[in-house]
Amino acid sequence: MSPIAHFIGSWLVATAVVDTPRDRRLVTLAGILPDADGLGMVADVAKHLATGQELNFLYYQKFHHLWCHGWPAAIAFTLALTLFAKRRWRVALGCLITFHLHLLCDLLGSRGPSVADLWPICYGEPLFRHPVWFWKGQWRLDGWQNTVICLGLFAGALAMTVKRGQSFTEFFGQQADTAFSATLQKWWKSFVSRKSG
Ligand SMILES: [Zn+2]
Repeated sequence: MSPIAHFIGSWLVATAVVDTPRDRRLVTLAGILPDADGLGMVADVAKHLATGQELNFLYYQKFHHLWCHGWPAAIAFTLALTLFAKRRWRVALGCLITFHLHLLCDLLGSRGPSVADLWPICYGEPLFRHPVWFWKGQWRLDGWQNTVICLGLFAGALAMTVKRGQSFTEFFGQQADTAFSATLQKWWKSFVSRKSG
């Protein structure tokens, strides 16, 4: 699934599990960190630009979904992130939930262009080759299902902002969140009063 869907979905889980901006940031981070193993793409593009060789995404394919999409990474990320947490047990639980939600979303919708391009979850990697999970009905990464889910999550996050006055922009800093949440609540208030008036 797209990084934006992982991000917003993880933040929504974080709002349900922990109650401070810092802890929510940590729990959200655990839901997007698995895709750090896709950064090999940066190395591929850099190599292509530097050498003029054909762009082959060698590093991307070698590491993506293999280094950070298994239980070893789940434990490593959870331990590292809880070091910075206020409520450690709750953050640890939240991190494990968002990490595995990421895996589930990838299992459902991260297929390549053709039906044969199924992308499995190698849950033991990089330490063990097994278990390997895949779903034959996996939809395309750029499929309409992912777009619908992403829009749904975005709408849910905005509704949460209107209701609670906190938004996913808090991930980037408190100031951004205060400004964004206040503006959205103001817009919503004037929209509702115009509708009823
Ligand atoms: Zn992923």
